[in-house]
Amino acid sequence: MKSLIMYILFILLIAILLPTVIIQNYKVENINSLENERSVDDTIKSKYIKIYNIETKTVETIDFEDYIKGVLATEMSGNFHIEALKAQAVASRTYAFHRLEVYKDGHPQHPETALCTGIHCQAYSSIKKLEEIHGEHWMEQYWDKFIEAVDSTKGQIMVYNEKVIDAMFHSTSGGMTEDSEMVFASAKPYLRAVVSPYEKESPKFTGTMCISVNDFINTITNEYDGINLTKKNIASKIKIVERSKSNRVKTINIDGKAITGRELRILLGLNSTNFDFSIDGKSNTITFDTIGYGHGVGMSQWGANGMASKGYKYDEILKYFYTGVKINSMY
Ligand SMILES: [Zn+2]
Repeated sequence: MKSLIMYILFILLIAILLPTVIIQNYKVENINSLENERSVDDTIKSKYIKIYNIETKTVETIDFEDYIKGVLATEMSGNFHIEALKAQAVASRTYAFHRLEVYKDGHPQHPETALCTGIHCQAYSSIKKLEEIHGEHWMEQYWDKFIEAVDSTKGQIMVYNEKVIDAMFHSTSGGMTEDSEMVFASAKPYLRAVVSPYEKESPKFTGTMCISVNDFINTITNEYDGINLTKKNIASKIKIVERSKSNRVKTINIDGKAITGRELRILLGLNSTNFDFSIDGKSNTITFDTIGYGHGVGMSQWGANGMASKGYKYDEILKYFYTGVKINSMY
């Protein structure tokens, strides 16, 4: 009888002590892994990143993978195919890593950090902010999908010649992406123009912008000296002189002044540099018809979604839009 009581007491003791030991070990393990990650503190491999919040004008410290979730939920639609969301998760993670490398001492526009929460870098919203914008129902519907896309690609980034790439992306290419040097300063071997055939569902596939001839003349003459534009002569003074192979306007000539398509796009707020224009002398308006939305370099988000709906996996989509890249894991 006595040995039975001893036996029961022994079992009870084990039942109480064992979970405590397990929990303590678990905590130690997690703290160790966190400290290991922190000890490789060259910003790039840190578990946390500092980000400049353009609304509150303060610096926030966020878990890196949580930051990618907030970017994905802001940059992409929850309706998009999971493989397109995974492709964007890897692109956004790569883009952030690259910026952390390039702007180690802060970006000139926000010297406190390498990345901000605005589209200037890549748009990010916190969970609280997403709830405010979209409501609880939206969070219930989509948040798990964003988490899945980020968690299932955790730590994955794109490299070219073992270097982290500048993973640029945009909304809609309009049928073909663009060589990097047509839009930005340098020619990157992995940012080559490719055909993007599956993005006609994009609401921004085509666009129209109509402005009065007066406003157009004012905008142009305020920006550039020595241009003589009037309602009467305007039709003969504007000419598109050069297009890229993707049909984007490289150069437009206005009264003898050569202006890049990109300059005009920014000046007028056009959807893209793939445009045509027409002047209506009766209504005194000038209409720009655009194809695509964004700068056109790197991955087209709508193109990625189109490929995903055709059965392509996220890595196939990335390797299609970013020429010659490999996908590595940073953790
Ligand atoms: Zn920024």
